[in-house]
Amino acid sequence: MKFLCVGCDEPMRLESVDGPEQGSVSVTFGCPRCSHRVALLTNPAETQLVRSLGVKIGGRGLPPEPLEVLSTALGPQRAGAVEAAGEEGPVWAEAAAARLERLPPLARPMARMAISRYARERGVTTVTPELMDEYRARMAF
Ligand SMILES: [Zn+2]
Repeated sequence: MKFLCVGCDEPMRLESVDGPEQGSVSVTFGCPRCSHRVALLTNPAETQLVRSLGVKIGGRGLPPEPLEVLSTALGPQRAGAVEAAGEEGPVWAEAAAARLERLPPLARPMARMAISRYARERGVTTVTPELMDEYRARMAF
């Protein structure tokens, strides 16, 4: 990815980088021919994307995960991130875990978290297929 000056069809050069401040970085690019400039202000996820442009960003940042960059920058938060942020959950009974495995892979972390939360709210320490039914019945209105 490069920025092009539309008027000159010239790749813009990196001029300056400010930050990161709270994970955000301000990057300025300039056209070497007409001195047109653009600035880019990123959020923390986009900061990773900017790293992929070869911008050297100092300070403490997120670990580079090149394959994650696009999905993070372009899509809603990935299910994996939700799972990572999950709290300590109840135990999953074997039958319940097996049932969770039958869900599409992308749906699993969300379902696991939602049902775990449902169990915690009820002081249930083991997730069973019955609890999953109960949860689903409740969610289906
Ligand atoms: Zn230009």
